[in-house]
Amino acid sequence: MNIYNDDVFQMACDQFQVIADYINIDKNDRDRLMFPKRAIAVTLPIHMDDGSTQTFQGYRVQHHLTLGPTKGGTRFTPNLSMGETAALAMWMSWKCALANLPYGGAKGGIACDPTMLSRRELEGVSRRYMQEMIPFVGPHTDIMGPDMGTNEQIMAWFMDTYSVYQGYAVSEIVTGKPVSIGGTEGRRESTGRGVVYLIERAMDMLKMDPEKCTAIIQGFGNVGSVAALAMALKVGVKVVGISDATVALFNPEGIDIKAADQHVAKKGNLRAFSEADRVDPNELLTMKCDILVPSAVDRVITVKNADKLQCRILAEGANGPTTPEADLLLNERSKEVFVIPDILCNAGGVIVSYFEWVQGLQSFLWTESEVTDKLFRILQHSFAQVIKRAKEHKVSHRTAAMAIGVERVMKAKQARGLFP
Ligand code: NAD
Repeated sequence: MNIYNDDVFQMACDQFQVIADYINIDKNDRDRLMFPKRAIAVTLPIHMDDGSTQTFQGYRVQHHLTLGPTKGGTRFTPNLSMGETAALAMWMSWKCALANLPYGGAKGGIACDPTMLSRRELEGVSRRYMQEMIPFVGPHTDIMGPDMGTNEQIMAWFMDTYSVYQGYAVSEIVTGKPVSIGGTEGRRESTGRGVVYLIERAMDMLKMDPEKCTAIIQGFGNVGSVAALAMALKVGVKVVGISDATVALFNPEGIDIKAADQHVAKKGNLRAFSEADRVDPNELLTMKCDILVPSAVDRVITVKNADKLQCRILAEGANGPTTPEADLLLNERSKEVFVIPDILCNAGGVIVSYFEWVQGLQSFLWTESEVTDKLFRILQHSFAQVIKRAKEHKVSHRTAAMAIGVERVMKAKQARGLFP
């Protein structure tokens, strides 16, 4: 369909239709649940350092406003499109509903490569984006957060731009901001920590001994690096493979994740990290390991590699890493590969964002251990619900997770009714 025309949006729709068939959603209700409530496209002209003016395209999609404001990350990646943004917003809706958060899903971003911009240019494009979004967002309408290519600093610029317009500090307009301006302790680590917490629950269920397990992690940004550090240093799993957009690395003896993290902090990426062998990035995903964590981009587990995965647990840190066709193959292998689906696996970020928003609205702060404790309790509950439903209904973990989310949104829409 028209403005959302995109492979990733089609994938999100296909996934939705599978759920709609499974829980028998009336044909009249499907489009209403599936298509975004609002989509905004903006053009952002920026003064570049060389004196030229460059325009960037920005997007924001608010999937539904039935349960409260929309909530979702902001992505700065070169090929971002309205369709991809809409798909991510839809996934956010099911993710928030699964965790029982009072939000609809949203997503936004700018089609740009942040690594090619100077700090001044990045600040310019970030501020301009928020300025253009001011009529459409607000602490009770739509709350932004970080995603690929954005970070705490960019959230601080968003918050400042919005606050200057209002005339007072509105910390609750964004989450994932620095602690010094109302950010929540532990938000930066929340997604990666949540991923690892759920991997531990899965290892408990499958009676796997962490000390004897190995892991491969694709993507070494916010989610991937935190997950790798927690896995290696807290859980005792040997991380044998890591990758980023520049290189894929493998070392059967285990990679020194702390050293890799420090290297990225200094150099910006893993390209020159020499304590492991370089391997083909596609092959890294199918190498032997106990736990595979795709935590970079979407659609990396496809029909081409789903039947070749050698992991016992597939923990989806990224959004949409597995295509629906690959899912069919993984369903056939459900006794071999235990899938922790994205809307459950990476929900830690939006759950702690919710805490940050509540803290901002109430001007009341919690400690990091209180935050992490509450996070794990919600994840544990969601995990148990998904496993129970999958077992009882004999469906995949993804189908169970999505069905719980979609049903909650559907019930809320039915209760509110359709305005004439
Ligand atoms: P990030 O920008 O901090 O890091 C992305 C990492 O992926 C970088 O290391 C980058 O080099 C790498 N990468 C990019 N393309 C790659 C490729 N083709 N192959 C291998 N590595 C590649 O982003 P992030 O915040 O860590 O987000 C990663 C994923 O997790 C995204 O799918 C995002 O939507 C999802 N996610 C993030 C959060 C969050 O709180 N940050 C929450 C939920 C889900």
